[in-house]
Amino acid sequence: MWAYGVDKDKLREIQKIRLEERLPSFGIKKLDVPIPVLKADEVLIKPKYSALNFNSIWSSMAHPVAPFQLISGHIARNPIDKDHMLDYAIFGSDCSGTIVGVGTNVYDWSIGDDVVVHCNVINSSDPIIESDSMKSETQSIWGYETNFGAFAEYCKVKASQLLPKPSSLDWPSAASYCLTHSTAYRMLVGDNGARLKAGETCLIWGAAGGLGTFAIQLCKLAGVKSVAVVSNDEKAHICKELGADLVINRSKLDFGPFLTEDGDQNKLAWAKGKKILASLGVDKIDVVFEHVGAATLGASVYFLKKGGRIVICAASSGYDAKIDLRYLWMEVKSIIGSHFANYSEAQEASNLINSGHIVPKIYGVYDISKLGQLMDKMYRGETFGKVVFKH
Ligand code: NDP
Repeated sequence: MWAYGVDKDKLREIQKIRLEERLPSFGIKKLDVPIPVLKADEVLIKPKYSALNFNSIWSSMAHPVAPFQLISGHIARNPIDKDHMLDYAIFGSDCSGTIVGVGTNVYDWSIGDDVVVHCNVINSSDPIIESDSMKSETQSIWGYETNFGAFAEYCKVKASQLLPKPSSLDWPSAASYCLTHSTAYRMLVGDNGARLKAGETCLIWGAAGGLGTFAIQLCKLAGVKSVAVVSNDEKAHICKELGADLVINRSKLDFGPFLTEDGDQNKLAWAKGKKILASLGVDKIDVVFEHVGAATLGASVYFLKKGGRIVICAASSGYDAKIDLRYLWMEVKSIIGSHFANYSEAQEASNLINSGHIVPKIYGVYDISKLGQLMDKMYRGETFGKVVFKH
């Protein structure tokens, strides 16, 4: 079968290039590999569409952790999955498709079922999954920390990763939303995140992106005022269309950069940022939706009102972030770490899609052969919403 990912030769090639000079397309290759063999609790899916997530960009850049190292970590947590260690790794963490094979212990799903895959891989016998599977020591992200991802003619997943395809959705939209929408849902709405309350104000970084386009809609649904931050007018327009109450084009308004060229916190820029917010009528920020990391976290802490909370799921600009702790403890603020979503959060998020309350914003649908090109575009911040691939 065909698949897109990396093999050991390609990985060696990309690791010879300085990180600043790498592009995601340098680290992705079309592979010709066997159809995965199922274990008892697994199903084989023929994806019709898949969607791009930033984790595949990290994988193809072999940064911050190279794919085979991630897979080794998964196997250390889940020895039963030693079949994932091969001399290639297939990427991709979102797809819609049809089941074409089931393992001997799969009773709830059948060949021919139309499904969406959610990317949380866990050992279902871990008791902690009763409360929150994201806290399981066995937890990994499919197609990032595991092999056999979505960018392939066939992929295999655990039966516990399946959701019925929302009947109201076309196939491309069904492939697009699960990873980022479920993540945004847990961050903002679920009991494990910021638990938005009607009347609050939420600042959303990267608001036209894969996470941000869902965050705006979740705020609207929760009766929360959203302040969407983006870097150009096209993205600003998209945020407005999605229902953002206020949009800041950070390039035009000199909203940042919040780090100096030496990577130190630029507190003058923080103060200026707060003035810009006040001039736009934002007198308090209850919640910050964070995934940018080093470049914004210091400012995010500073912008919050007393008692406010930051919910963070990533660090695209760097994970060694600095903050001025005085603004955290003296002003009783909190930072909540969040990662993907457990099964019930993913199902609740999916229900909002099925009912039409949340609508995926699709940047475009491309042939899967354009994967590398679109990864480069996303890496350069030139895409918005979700990029979808036809298989
Ligand atoms: P996108 O590329 O779609 O959107 C990210 C946006 O962030 C960019 O478009 C850009 O918007 C903004 N951004 C990037 N750098 C900066 C900066 N220095 N300052 C301000 N804004 C910046 O990506 P996603 O939304 O899909 O994902 C974002 C991150 O979240 C990735 O690192 C991804 O790996 C991670 N993630 C983590 C998940 C988890 O479960 N832990 C789940 C999903 C994603 P603009 O230029 O318009 O401001």
